[in-house]
Amino acid sequence: LNSDEVPKQSEENLRSPICCIMGHVDTGKTKLLDCIRGTNVQEGEAGGITQQIGATYFPAENIRDRTKELKADAKLKVPGLLVIDTPGHESFTNLRSRGSGLCDIAILVVDIMHGLEPQTIESLNLLKMRNTEFIVALNKVDRLYGWKTCRNAPIVKAMKQQTKDVQNEFNMRLTQIITQFKEQGLNTELYYKNKEMGETYSIVPTSAISGEGIPDMLLLLVQWTQKTMVEKLTYSNEVQCTVLEVKVVEGHGTTIDVVLVNGVLHEGDQIVVCGMQGPIVTTIRALLTPHPMKELRVKGTYVHHKKIKAAMGIKITAQGLEHAIAGTGLYVVKSDDDLEDVKDAAMEDMKSVMNRIDKS
Ligand code: GDP
Repeated sequence: LNSDEVPKQSEENLRSPICCIMGHVDTGKTKLLDCIRGTNVQEGEAGGITQQIGATYFPAENIRDRTKELKADAKLKVPGLLVIDTPGHESFTNLRSRGSGLCDIAILVVDIMHGLEPQTIESLNLLKMRNTEFIVALNKVDRLYGWKTCRNAPIVKAMKQQTKDVQNEFNMRLTQIITQFKEQGLNTELYYKNKEMGETYSIVPTSAISGEGIPDMLLLLVQWTQKTMVEKLTYSNEVQCTVLEVKVVEGHGTTIDVVLVNGVLHEGDQIVVCGMQGPIVTTIRALLTPHPMKELRVKGTYVHHKKIKAAMGIKITAQGLEHAIAGTGLYVVKSDDDLEDVKDAAMEDMKSVMNRIDKS
């Protein structure tokens, strides 16, 4: 073991929580992701990045900066937040394929003007089924009639700037939506009034266009996960990694996009992934990630890493990945491992992927 990899069971040794965004089409899932990236990257470019890796990493410094107006002196104990883009439920099923599950927490986006919609309820059912924690982003508050923009302001501050009429409309819509959640068997409450987090789900009003409530959302995600999921988020030496996509990239050949949920990957690690024609044993040639958020606009270039700690979305280049199967695990062969055992473990994943295909 390297000294920097010895796990300690403590709040000081946490990996980044993994968060995914769900909800009805057009509620603003993509826009919210764009907004929390904190860049004015044009939609096309941002979309490009998202598709390249399916995951965006927000370093703690960035979250600290975005939330400083909230004056929450709570320490950020996690190194950052990994947000996974899950367009459509298919991907979510894939992402969640490995029993333990990939997402630690989800953002369920609801359009304040529309309330709960069919895919909101579908998402809710998925979340309930998998026992995934979530917060509700009550998005598009800027569409309330007469809303006064308070760019990137904490929501309480923004709400104070609004006229009585706007506040009344907000409260009326909020009450209706809380009732709709109740009809689905869930208690929800504005996050700053929520005294029973865990029993009652928190609602954060947001605007993905003008940024009100975004600081609140980020802080809530980080504080909630690092407070209640210490065990799950404790950094481990055991690699837990899922293949999201298998893709040919110009100049890199066939690559796999993975989410490293826990542990650390190194350039040169021997790995095994599940393949259509049997286990693929290969060596990591390069570990690539998109550029840090500030340089996100550079399309199609990657940062090379010698090693990467969880959680992170990573593009891996290696030989022989052509027949790798998305949704299965990636295994690292350690010096004391029996390669045959690792191959068996990798191929076990094939069964669960096939089961899922049979059922759907
Ligand atoms: P998705 O389908 O959930 O990913 O939704 P998009 O992010 O593509 O947003 C759908 C539409 O709603 C786009 O035209 C966005 O510009 C718009 N939109 C998203 N969030 C907001 C918001 O907070 N306020 C307003 N006014 N429009 C928004």
